[in-house]
Amino acid sequence: MSALRSLILAAADSPRMQRFVQKYGFKLGAARFVAGETLDSAVPVLRRLNEQGLLTNTTLLGEGVRDEAETRAVVAAYRELLDRVQAEGLRTNVALKLTHLGLSIDEELAQRNVAELVGHAASVGNFVRIDMEESRHVDSTLRIYRRLRESGHANVGAVLQSYLFRTETDLAELLPLAPNLRLVKGAYLEPPEIAYPHKRDVDAAYVRLLEASLSGEGFTAIATHDETLIEHAISFARDRGISTERFQFQMLYGVRSRLQLDLVRRGFAVLVATPYGPEWYRYLMRRLAERPANVLFLLRNLVRG
Ligand SMILES: Cc1cc2nc3c(=O)[nH]c(=O)nc-3n(C[C@H](O)[C@H](O)[C@H](O)COP(=O)(O)OP(=O)(O)OC[C@H]3O[C@@H](n4cnc5c(N)ncnc54)[C@H](O)[C@@H]3O)c2cc1C
Repeated sequence: MSALRSLILAAADSPRMQRFVQKYGFKLGAARFVAGETLDSAVPVLRRLNEQGLLTNTTLLGEGVRDEAETRAVVAAYRELLDRVQAEGLRTNVALKLTHLGLSIDEELAQRNVAELVGHAASVGNFVRIDMEESRHVDSTLRIYRRLRESGHANVGAVLQSYLFRTETDLAELLPLAPNLRLVKGAYLEPPEIAYPHKRDVDAAYVRLLEASLSGEGFTAIATHDETLIEHAISFARDRGISTERFQFQMLYGVRSRLQLDLVRRGFAVLVATPYGPEWYRYLMRRLAERPANVLFLLRNLVRG
């Protein structure tokens, strides 16, 4: 892992850094990655992406909530979001974090909150993706996903991270559920005892996961901006006769927009993850860590004023 990536992810925890970035960051650069600070400002962005042939998901940014009442407010906000998506006729589903719904307080609380939202999403014909967070949450997140599926919810998906050693086993255990899985490389700072420190190993693991998931019965969301992996997925699916309805590509709002549209033109489904909300700080820091050149982009905006 690059030293700069570790440095940015570690600095993300500093309150002083947070105050500084929160004060100036939206104008300086967060707007590139975040659709707005309110749902009202996100809706036109989502609509414009849909008009370009892109599917979207959205997230009310936030994580690590430690107060039960606050998790209820998050549930209410997501219910409103799902209703708004239906009313506006958007092709947008929801991606959320279980620590936003109380996973750091109590697993049962997060389970109840997410079950309510998955149920509400079903009632408006929508779908909920449960993001994957730091490694300490992987067991509980996968348990919650499994319980949702076993209690009959079909409109819910999970995420697996190729940087973790454990993930190939996790995938093998999930495949009998015909899961809807998003595959990512992984965005957090993880120790070398549990995660591949070198990019080439993370990429090689991604290929193995991709092939195993596409060969299973479920749906695979290939969430990467890595063109080599994207082209590998396309040829693997073509050679095995895997229908394009069994997978889609997913990328982040503000990253590789031209590639997103090229894939649409080639006939593939592409979903753009387009979050919003005032709590964009940690999300922005992860985007900077993925590509330290983004720090320069931010600094250039600072100099230009
Ligand atoms: C839709 C979606 C959902 C995600 N959900 C999760 C999740 O639930 N849990 C989780 O841990 N991680 C998640 N991630 C993040 C993921 O783990 C990676 O950190 C991120 O996607 C960067 O890795 P990459 O696969 O694009 O490959 P990389 O090898 O990192 O990047 C490939 C190329 O893409 C471009 N690129 C990548 N990132 C950026 C960026 N930030 N800014 C500008 N260019 C960039 C660069 O050109 C780079 O050379 C998600 C990513 C996507 C796209």
